[in-house]
Parts: sequence; C-alpha cells; structure tokens
Amino acid sequence: MSGEKKTWMRQPIIVVLGHVDHGKTTLLDKIRGTAVARKEPGEITQHVGASVVPASVLKKLAEPLRKYFPKLVIEIPGLLFIDTPGHELFSNLRKRGGSVADMAILVVDIIEGFQPQTVEAINILKEKKVPFVVAANKIDRIEGWKPHADTPFLESIRDQSPRTLSLLEEKIYGLVGKLYEHGFEAERFDRVRDFRRTVAIVPISAKTGEGIPELLALIAGLSQQFMKKRLVTSEEPAKGVVLEVKEEPGLGTTIDVIIYDGVLRRNDVFVVAGRNGPIVTRVRSLLMPRPLQDMRMHEGRFINVDLVTAATGVKVAAPGLEDALAGSPFYVVPSDDKVEEYKRITQEEVSQIRFRAESDGVVLKADTLGTLEALIEAMRRENIPVKLADVGHVTRNDVIEASVVKKSKPEYGVILSFNVKVLPEAEELIAKEGIPVFKHNVIYQLLEEYFKWYREFKEQEKTRIMESLVRPGKIRVIPGAVFRRSEPAIVGVEVLGGRIKPNYPLMTSDGRSIGTVMQIRDRDNVLKEAIVGQQVAISIKGKVMVGRHIDEGDILYTDIPRDHVRLWLTTFNSELSDDEKLVLKEIISIKRKSDPLYGMVFTA
Ligand code: GDP
Repeated sequence: MSGEKKTWMRQPIIVVLGHVDHGKTTLLDKIRGTAVARKEPGEITQHVGASVVPASVLKKLAEPLRKYFPKLVIEIPGLLFIDTPGHELFSNLRKRGGSVADMAILVVDIIEGFQPQTVEAINILKEKKVPFVVAANKIDRIEGWKPHADTPFLESIRDQSPRTLSLLEEKIYGLVGKLYEHGFEAERFDRVRDFRRTVAIVPISAKTGEGIPELLALIAGLSQQFMKKRLVTSEEPAKGVVLEVKEEPGLGTTIDVIIYDGVLRRNDVFVVAGRNGPIVTRVRSLLMPRPLQDMRMHEGRFINVDLVTAATGVKVAAPGLEDALAGSPFYVVPSDDKVEEYKRITQEEVSQIRFRAESDGVVLKADTLGTLEALIEAMRRENIPVKLADVGHVTRNDVIEASVVKKSKPEYGVILSFNVKVLPEAEELIAKEGIPVFKHNVIYQLLEEYFKWYREFKEQEKTRIMESLVRPGKIRVIPGAVFRRSEPAIVGVEVLGGRIKPNYPLMTSDGRSIGTVMQIRDRDNVLKEAIVGQQVAISIKGKVMVGRHIDEGDILYTDIPRDHVRLWLTTFNSELSDDEKLVLKEIISIKRKSDPLYGMVFTA
C-alpha cells in the first residue's frame, strides 16, 4: 500500500428541466433506451433514481460525429441522468451554495417556444449556477421534416428541404432571442465558438432520436472540458444528497441517495437531516436495481452490494430513517469522534431552510427540504419576507403565526403549502381568522397564485389609499349664484381644473382655509364629485359667510394636506391627469408662502 488515495473522474450528474409536455420524459426514455441498446454486455445502466449512459455508448454515438468534431475523445466514465425530470426533484438535489447536478438539459418545445416553466427553470439554474444546454425538441414537427431515426442532427439536415431548414432557423433564432432576454448568449451548437460564454442549442427529436448523439456528446465534451476538477473524486467517506424517502416492503423506510463524492460501504455510519434533528445511523444494506434480465418472480427488485462509488444512485436501508427529509445532505462520518461535528454541519445547513424569523412575513410549508428551499428562494427573488419555513403539514400553530402577521401586514398573512396537507385542527382556525391559504403541487403555479393575489391586494390597497387623498381642485364662485350666505353657505361654482368631492377642505387663492365641501348638487342630483368643466352647486361646512370670507367670482382651491401632497408628487403622481397636475402646482405655490417645506420631496 502506498498510502495514496485512489482518485478517479466520476460521471457528471445531469438533470432534465423544462415546461410540462415539452418532452422531458420522452427524452429521458430515449436516452435510457439508447444506453440499453448500445451498451456492452455486463455494463450496468440502471441506478436507483438515475440512469447511466456508459462511456462505451458515448463513444459509439460520437463515432459518426468525428468528421464534425475530430477532437472529441470521451474521458469520463459516462453520464448519470437523474430519472425524474422537473423542478421538484431537481430542488432536492440541493447542496450548500449550489446543486449536486453538474449540468442540466433545458428542454424547449421548438414549436411552442418559451413557456412559464422554461423561464422558471432558467432562473433556478442561474441561481444554482448550473451550466446548461438547450435541447430544442420536436424538430420532427417542423413543417416538411423528413425523419431519420436515431441519426445525428447534422446528418439529418442534409436531407431536409430549404424551406424546412429556414423554418428551423427561424425557430432557433426565436430561442436565441428569448435566451438573450434572460441574460444568455446562445447559438446553435455547431456554430458556438466559446462554450464558456455561449449556451449551446441542440435541435433534437426525443421521438425519432435525431440530434440525441450530438446532445450526449456535447454534454460529455463540455463536462470533461470545463468541470474536470469538480468531477475528480477519491476514496473518501461518501457525500451525497437524499433524493427521496421511501417505504419499501420488507425493508422499512429507505432513502434513495445520489452519491457525488467518495465511497459508500455497508456498515458505514452516516448523518442525514430528520424532522426532529439530525439522524445518525448505520448502513444496513446498499441496494441497486436488479438488472432486467435477472428479474425473477420470487426475488426482489433490488440486489445487495457491498459498496458503491461516486457518482451513483443507491437505495440505503438503515434503522431509524422514518423521519429523514428528502433534500437532506448525506454524510458518511469518517470516524466515531467526528459524529458530533457532522451532526452540527448537517444541522447548520438545515437551519438555513427550516426557520422562524421575528419579522413579519409569509408562512411556507413544503414536503421536502428541497421544495421548501425553492419556495424560500422564489420569495427572496420577489423581495417577500418569510416568517416561518418548515417541512410538514399545515398545523394550527402555522395559522396562529400567519394570523399575527395578518394584523400588521395583511399582504404577508398567508400560508403557502406545497404538496402537504392542511390538518383538520388548522382548517377551523383558517376559516375563523380568514387566512388565505395557497396550495399547489406544482411550484411555479403555487407561486403564481400567491403573487397574483399579492399584486391584486397591493393594487386594492393603493386604490384605497388614493381614494382617501384630497385631489387637486380649482373652482370659481359663479357671480349671481349665491343661494345661501351662511350656515351653510351654498353657492354655484364652476370647476376650472381637477376635481372636488364632498369632505374636501377648501382654501382661497391666498391660502386662507374656508371650510369643507359638504354636498355637491347638479339640480336635484347629489353628486360624488365634480370634474373640470362642470357647473354645480356646493354647500360649505364651517364658519363661512359669503360677502365676508368669500365673494362672488372668487377662485378657491382644495386645501391638500401636507402628507397627501407628498404622495401625489411621488407614489401616485402618474394617477393625476394633466389638468390636476397644473392645479397642484398652483396649490403648492400658494401653500409655500406660509409653509416653505410644503410639497418638498426629500429622497434619501
Ligand atoms: P414532459 O411533460 O416534458 O415530460 O413531456 P413528455 O415527454 O410527456 O411529452 C409530451 C408529449 O410530447 C407526449 O405526447 C410526447 O409523445 C410528445 N413528444 C415528446 N417529444 C417529442 C418529439 O420529439 N416529437 C414529437 N412529435 N412529439 C414529442
């Protein structure tokens, strides 16, 4: 023994994301099918929760591409694809400051183009700093496309009509434009000069298999070129992430783990996060899917193995995993004296995701650490504070938290629940306190529902505040239209600018206050307001006598309070009409004579 630890380059871990129905599942099926059909005898392609495309298959697929990419040599042992596509599972591949996924394929239906979940995927990938390629899927649906099963894209296009090719180009440029809007330079893969700066778009058909060789070769090429360091692993204690927690007949609660670093052995002691704190336990068995050809009725779906090496997807059976949380880090403890240290590391990591803050904010409940973290991050993007974030069903206590928030910040006094139940004990209180609860098992739809409600709430609140403000108004007392001299004075007025409403305070053109508008009438009709150009009769509340305080022909203005004028000049400025803005200017210059700071807006 030299004492040197064995090191090797592991398979990059790849995820598939994209909008619903854009072809993620079909693509993964195609990739799996390709791997099985072309693998060497004895090569294992099936892991738990993942599938491998071995190097031998990548080499075969890359062979016909040699004339286009002569330098392509496969050095990695293969590609590990996470079997379940989509954002929910991706979010469980969480790792502090990033993702366990090394690279992503963003599937976009070339006919439909960008959709909401495409944008969501891009945001998540950006945030997690996961590089990606775009698979522009369903090219076989482009008008006039002649399919060539399982052929490289660059071969297939040689047999397409000029019209079909120009339709394809148009679609690809549509995607290039969309990606640009989201901050990415993009180009069809064979035209990319610098893959570090440009996102490659590979036109494919998950149905016919066209473009799949290029897609796989490209991912292999990019990962071995740009993430060599990240892919080197050694005989260290394993590190991984819990993808799913599953009940298995005869095995109890098991965890499906993606190991991205090191070696995991039977009997290893490991730590994962549990509902009630870190769980320390020992591997009882490591299980891999039984190869299809050895499936026998009386045997289980899994085979026992002594050890697994990164990168791999493996099922771990161990005592005490009932409370384990999906999305949790998985650490093998290197030695007995390190147990406390690893518990602390795990706990620290989880406390970033499960927390209760003192400030007002929304309540988030989700089924796994990963989806909970995805919700927290989405809230951060929108600058919405979080009061409480936790894994588990919605309880009475959650409702109490939300109802306290509701009292001071009603826009945050809500509960967002992802893929968990609202317990009956909570239901009653929800109804009583009138707490809005948003539920959905698609993350972006859950967020959309809340954000829509939030925007509407803010809009209503804005309207409510605006309704309470005194608007600019300028009127003239019509000569010969004094109907009553005092208590209350009733005069005919013409609105020269802006508007008046009942309860608006009035002032003269030299800033003297003269009561408030009591009622506005147009003959027998009582009006809610009178706007520029209207002639109406108004009664004035307060000690106002025509002939003493005001006269026929006088110009009067609405007497806008200081804090109202500030809002008109800032938040609500765009809500004023042009004539209201002119009147506001006049009011400000009148008021400044006695109050020099009136209508001053100070910015920090
Ligand atoms: P997912 O929701 O993203 O996983 O999408 P699916 O893989 O379930 O695909 C949605 C639909 O699109 C299915 O009916 C597929 O058969 C179809 N589909 C997927 N890929 C292709 C493709 O390349 N060409 C065509 N014509 N149809 C496709």
